[in-house]
Formats: sequence, structure tokens, C-alpha cells
Amino acid sequence: MEVAPGIHSIPVDTWTFMGLYAPNVYLVLGEKAALIDSGYDDIETVGKRLEYIKEFAPQKLEYILVTHPHPDHIGGCRSIRKSTGAKIVLHSSAVARARNKYRVVPDILAEDGDILDIGGLSLEIIHTPGHSPASVCVYIRESKTLFSGDHILGIGTTVVDAPEGDMTQYIDSLKKLLSYDIRLICPGHGPPIKEAKRKIQELIAHRQERELQVLACLRQGRKNLARLVAEIYPELDYRLLELAQRQVLAHLRKLVREKKVIASGGEYALK
Ligand SMILES: [Zn+2]
Repeated sequence: MEVAPGIHSIPVDTWTFMGLYAPNVYLVLGEKAALIDSGYDDIETVGKRLEYIKEFAPQKLEYILVTHPHPDHIGGCRSIRKSTGAKIVLHSSAVARARNKYRVVPDILAEDGDILDIGGLSLEIIHTPGHSPASVCVYIRESKTLFSGDHILGIGTTVVDAPEGDMTQYIDSLKKLLSYDIRLICPGHGPPIKEAKRKIQELIAHRQERELQVLACLRQGRKNLARLVAEIYPELDYRLLELAQRQVLAHLRKLVREKKVIASGGEYALK
């Protein structure tokens, strides 16, 4: 499905994995082609992706750019490389995890600001840690399109959960993106986002509000993590408890780093 001129989101059957939450895999067409992310590593969906690439990209698939080393984004890249001869591109900070967890060894190591040329299109790698330390976004300068991986989602809120996720980095990475002129965001999950600047500002404001909530809870006295989570998410589904704890922990770590909160004996207090 073409979401913008020369940019296809390769459809996945909605019954696979998490339905609407299934990862987006994008095919970008210049004189050569590039894939942004590779989806899960299962024969059925990888096979469908390969068929789609064959049908819509007669030009050579040159690169597979992986936004971050999580299974729904990096999983399929080895199989797709094997069938197409494309080169896997990873940010240098993703290499150890990619190799140890997914047995993926990249062909090209990218750093922040690096540009890959696919003939008529320049793909800039922007290091945006936060959701994971190794997250990157990919920016097409010519069409002002941003592929945001899981840093910005078209549906729901990005998980920023300690210890892997880092709230300070996440907010800083969002602020970094505000300096780019973005017309369209193609997220790792959910539909494309048109009002990029407003969306990014909303995301920053959302985390700042949550942070104020944490500080307000601590103003009433010192509390442990479980108590804070119970107060911040009063009607939480127990299945989401651990995730909520790790997200609140990410906020607390940021506040401790900024010396607004002190942690001692498993409890947190305002400084
Ligand atoms: Zn994802």
C-alpha cells in the first residue's frame, strides 16, 4: 500500500501477531530501493514481504535499515538479506544486542548524521535513544519524511521502560526531532502522522505531565515504586502492572539524575 509517493507500507494480515499493533515495514523507492525495518522473523510474513518487494520494487533492494534491535523490527532482516542481497544497516550502538540476541551481523555500521543514497533520495540516520538505547529514525531529505520506528507511534504511546528505556534520552531525542522540517511521520506501528510538529510537542508535554504527577505524589511523602504506580494508575489492569512499574521507574531515574528526587532503601522522596 503506497502511503506517500514512492513509499510503501507492506501490509501484514491483521490476524497476525497483535493485529493493529503489527509492525510496519516500509519499502522506499529511489533509483534503488531500501527497506525500513524487517518485521518479525517468521516464514509466512517474511515470505509475503519478499513477494511484495518483488512486485513493487523492480530496482535492486540495496539496504535494510533497522530502527532498533527489537524482534518486531530486526527479526526478518537475515532472511530478507539472504533472498535479496540487500545490506543490513545498523546504528553502531545496536550491534552487540543484534548479534547476541538475534544473530544479526550488519553489513554497514551507521552513526548519527550518516546519509545513505539510494539514487535521488538521501536517507539520513538520526540517533534517537529513549525507547531503546540504539533507536534511530530515518529522514528522507527530499520528501521531508521521517521513519520513526518505535520512537513515535501512530497508535498508543511509546514504551519507555527502565532499565532499557531512558526517559531523559527519550525527551531529548524528541526535542532533537523538532529541529527537522518533517511533513510526514511513518511510524513503526499504526498509521502515518501528518502534523508532525504538533505530535512531537504533544508527546513531550505528555511525559512532562506524567513527571509532574510523580512529583505531586512524592510531595505527600516518601513512597516506594509500587505505591507510586498504584496512585498514578489507579485502575490499572494487573497484566500491565510490570510495564507501568518500569515506565514510572524511567521517570524516577530521570528525576534522580536531575537531583529533584532522592532514592534510598527502595523509597523515593523529593529532594
Ligand atoms: Zn515495535
